[in-house]
Amino acid sequence: MTDRIEKIVRDRVGEEPVCLFAYDLDRLAEHVRAVVDSLPARCRMFYAMKANSADPLLRALAPLVAGFEVASGGELDKARAVDAEAPVIFGGPAKTLAEIERALRRDVTRLHAESALELHRISEAATRLGRTVEVLLRVNLAGPFPSATLAMAGRPTQFGISEQDLPAAVAAARSLPGLRLTGFHLHSLSNNLSAEAHLELLAHYGRTVAGWEREFGLRCEVVNVGGGIGVNYADLDAQFDWASFSRGLPAVLDEFPAGVREVDFECGRYLVAACGVYAAEVLDVKRNHGVDYALVRGGTHQFRLPSSWQHSHPFTVLEVDEWTAPVPRPELREASVTVVGELCTPKDVLAREVPVERLRVGDVLVFHHAGAYGWEISHHDFLSHPHPEHVFHADAS
Ligand SMILES: *Cc1c(COP(=O)(O)O)cnc(C)c1O
Repeated sequence: MTDRIEKIVRDRVGEEPVCLFAYDLDRLAEHVRAVVDSLPARCRMFYAMKANSADPLLRALAPLVAGFEVASGGELDKARAVDAEAPVIFGGPAKTLAEIERALRRDVTRLHAESALELHRISEAATRLGRTVEVLLRVNLAGPFPSATLAMAGRPTQFGISEQDLPAAVAAARSLPGLRLTGFHLHSLSNNLSAEAHLELLAHYGRTVAGWEREFGLRCEVVNVGGGIGVNYADLDAQFDWASFSRGLPAVLDEFPAGVREVDFECGRYLVAACGVYAAEVLDVKRNHGVDYALVRGGTHQFRLPSSWQHSHPFTVLEVDEWTAPVPRPELREASVTVVGELCTPKDVLAREVPVERLRVGDVLVFHHAGAYGWEISHHDFLSHPHPEHVFHADAS
């Protein structure tokens, strides 16, 4: 937590319990600039908007990244509201004809096709508008993948075209009017923490694409290597080693076919997670059946990430000394605390059995790395509690 974030949280301590997301946009810009600056020449970093599509965040990112990756018409509208001309690449597993047509009217750079039927839909929309559209085929690789760390890749999912169906999809992409097959899209895993494994994965992509060039007699111009670079929520001090990843990248790109002019990354989590925190005030503490609980203002309806990944989300206790209520102040000491929210469901758990020296009602828990897939993926109106405040801080503004 940066000092400015702590100040934002402390400034809100008062009558109403603290409950907010706070983003440090300077920290965001610094991180993203360093990542982008370290990329070799052929690489472009797009921001995968589904991680967090808040307008101030997009505005901070727009001058730094190559463009936005969107997966719905709604995300496209948000991207266009920020920048009418920024490059936008359009993916997503179930696109309607209307969405595709709208995307073409709003000048997306290229589309990622997820099935043969989708190629037909893109072709129909493109010919209707008298256009030729760049498409990448999103392929769901069969594996096996080169490293044990990549066991998560290559599972059955609803995404992309199965490798068995690739010959037919390539033929369709080449013969349908209004399409220009420029390459392939390969996003095979999430939250990978190993730089070494990620380099191996990309080398595998390069060899695979080279094989398809030979098999289909085509020249691939663009490879999208997806996102999936992770955040270590279990140990905040052991993050993905981007420096070593970027050092290894040029050698890996040498394995890509020479005609590939552009290697696109579309990262979400890794770019924005660290700049955001979720702060929630402790409303009560209690011991039930031998377990110590802290109940906060907020919960998984605002910050569903720990529940969706089934992890205990890391937090810091911000001690608040003021206590003005005319009643005794409850506290836990030398406890192993389970942090829960205000919902009437036992699933509303943010962290489990975390050792704390002291935790008092009125202290504020600050959850770290909450900038990606936090508010964005949560069911905000379940139980109709008030929404948290969203604070976007930049020194420059
Ligand atoms: C979700 C998603 C991303 C971003 O993934 P991160 O793990 O946040 O980097 C990129 N590409 C596609 C196709 C996705 O579905």
